[in-house]
Parts: sequence; C-alpha cells; structure tokens
Amino acid sequence: MKIIQAQIRGLVKKYGKVVAINGLDLDINKGEMLSIVGPSGCGKSTLLSCIAGLEKPNDGEIAIDDELVFSTDRNCFKSPDKRQIGFVFQNYALWPHKSVFENVAYPLRIRKKCKYLIKNEVERALSIVRLLGKERQYPYELSGGQQQRVALARALIMKPKLLLLDEPLSNLDAKLREDMQYEIKRIQKDMEITIIHVTHDQYEAMGISDRIAVMNRGKLIQVGTPKELYEHPKTEFVAKFIGKTNIIHSHVTEENGCSKLALFEHVFIEDRYTTANIGEKVILSIRPEDISLRKEKGMGKGKIRRMFYRGNVIEYTICIENKELKVQTSPKEEYKIGEEVWIHIHQIKGVKN
Ligand code: ADP
Repeated sequence: MKIIQAQIRGLVKKYGKVVAINGLDLDINKGEMLSIVGPSGCGKSTLLSCIAGLEKPNDGEIAIDDELVFSTDRNCFKSPDKRQIGFVFQNYALWPHKSVFENVAYPLRIRKKCKYLIKNEVERALSIVRLLGKERQYPYELSGGQQQRVALARALIMKPKLLLLDEPLSNLDAKLREDMQYEIKRIQKDMEITIIHVTHDQYEAMGISDRIAVMNRGKLIQVGTPKELYEHPKTEFVAKFIGKTNIIHSHVTEENGCSKLALFEHVFIEDRYTTANIGEKVILSIRPEDISLRKEKGMGKGKIRRMFYRGNVIEYTICIENKELKVQTSPKEEYKIGEEVWIHIHQIKGVKN
C-alpha cells in the first residue's frame, strides 16, 4: 500500500502579477523519487521553495506526514527548520573555509549536539555518500561531484522526511552526472528516503525517477511513471516534452465502412488507436522509433532530408507530402540523403489538448 509522504492542495504562489504556481495538487508517496520537469520558468523551483518553507504561498495547503506545514484556511506556516526537510541546490553552497567534516557537521553544530554524536553522524553520512577519509579536505580540493556529495551528506545528516534536490547535477560534466544519478538513486533506495528532484533534463528524470510530474505555466499537466508518460502522454505538450515525437493533427474519415486516420493527404491508416467518431479531429503522437523505413512498398513514400548518425541509432528526417517526419532506425539500415523510401508506422497514440 502506498503511504503519502507529502500532500499539496490548491497551491498558488504569485510574485506580483506573475502567477508562478497556479492551483497545483500533488501527492508524493513515501520512499519515492519524484522528478519535476517542465520548461524554464514553469514554476519548478518555486514549488520546491514552497515545500521547503523558503517561500510563503498565497493560497492552498501543504502537509508533510499528515501534518500541516502550510494552510491559508488554518493560518498555518511552519518555518523551514520545523519541516524536517533537507535540500541540495545547484550551487552546492558549501562553506569554502570549512573542512568537509565541518560542512557536514554544520546542521548538528547549530543545534548544539554533543561532539560524539556529531562525529558518529558525520561518519555515517560521509560513508553513505562514499566520502569517508575526506573529512579534513576543503571544498576547493574536491571535484564537482565530490562537492555535490558533501552537500548531499549535509542534507542527509538531519535524517529529513523529504529531500529536495533542485538541479543538483546541472553543473557537472556528462560522465559525472551519470555517476551521480546512479549514486542518488542508490542512496534513495538504501535509506528509503523520499526525494523530490527538479530537473530541466527529461532524460535524467526518465533514468532515475519512480514518477515524473510534468509542469507547464504553474500547473501540473501529468504525473506518472516514466513509462506511463512516454507511452501514454495525456496531452500534446507531454508527448513533446517527454522524448522525441511526431505530432500530427489529423481527423477520422471513413473508407469502405471502416474508420481511418488521415496521416497525410494521401496516407490513411486504419484507426486502431483512437475512440474518435468519423469526422472528428484528433491529435496523434508517433515516436520516431515506431516508424520503420523500407525500400519496398509501405504506407507512404517519402524522401530522406536529413540524417544524424548517433552510433547506436540513426535519426532521419523524412519529407513526406511537404511535411517532416522524424524516424529513428538501427544503424544497420543506412539510407542516403535524397533517397526515396517507404515508411511503415507500427504504433500511434492519440493525445488530447
Ligand atoms: P523554473 O524553476 O521552472 O524555471 P521558477 O519557479 O524559477 O521556474 O519561476 C516561475 C516564475 O516565477 C517565473 O516566471 C519567474 O520569473 C518567477 N519568479 C520566480 N522567483 C521569483 C522572484 N523571487 N521574484 C519574482 N518572480 C519570480
């Protein structure tokens, strides 16, 4: 059974006339890694700041472990230090003049904990992030990934109910990012901790999240597992935001008593994908890997306009009836620019706006 760790209801946060969060409801399950994705300025960081208590929302409710930390109706606002929340932001904000030990110990020092407890807890936190032995070093002596792990240890030392990560990996190079994604996932599973992770990188979110929440213009558009979002996007926005896709504005027609989808002016396929009535307009999402290219006759004929060799796959842009279609094939199937090919579509999703 799923236990709700945090509950957000009707959240609104305005900055003057800018509505950063516009009536948002979200449940976060205990022990899950939930990533929040969406275009820049859609309200991701503001949402984290509201959960952390760094910003006071204008309306709504936030409860953590069934305990209200913010409510306009009940006039409740708990300060960040009363919420048992840990956070790690993009610019690690380590104290440059403090050693690794002192950086991690800081939250316990300000709470005047005894030195034996501090020593034990710092060791425990550093061992979780695999930095034991670095206690005496200073931030400038560490790599970006190590500094980020110190920040993580400092957030974990207070045994937070919720850990908030705001773009924690965006300053790291690609290889380090991947290692840290794995580390964060491991720590989350080992400690059974609930994490809300903000990222602008949908591939990163797909790789490490139990669920992803897609936001746009201060609203939550869809929340689900990476697979649910990829395979069953509810809207055109989600289909385009999670992975690459071809969006086709189509309609349902009838041919010989059978309902068909008009993909292009001269390309019709049997409608096994939507429940729309004949004559109705539909929006279709076709993933590039759900289209194959053939020399022999297929559904429609196009011409190769662009080609990107990516090693493990080849990405083609096909021009078909003056429209462009993105296609991804195995690198074994090589076609030349300008070559005529037939397309075959294996899977389509109908999406709503
Ligand atoms: P994201 O994290 O998705 O990029 P933000 O939460 O940072 O988005 O911002 C959401 C909106 O709120 C944006 O329009 C941004 O300009 C505005 N905003 C965020 N913080 C402030 C602030 N402190 N003062 C004024 N406007 C802000």
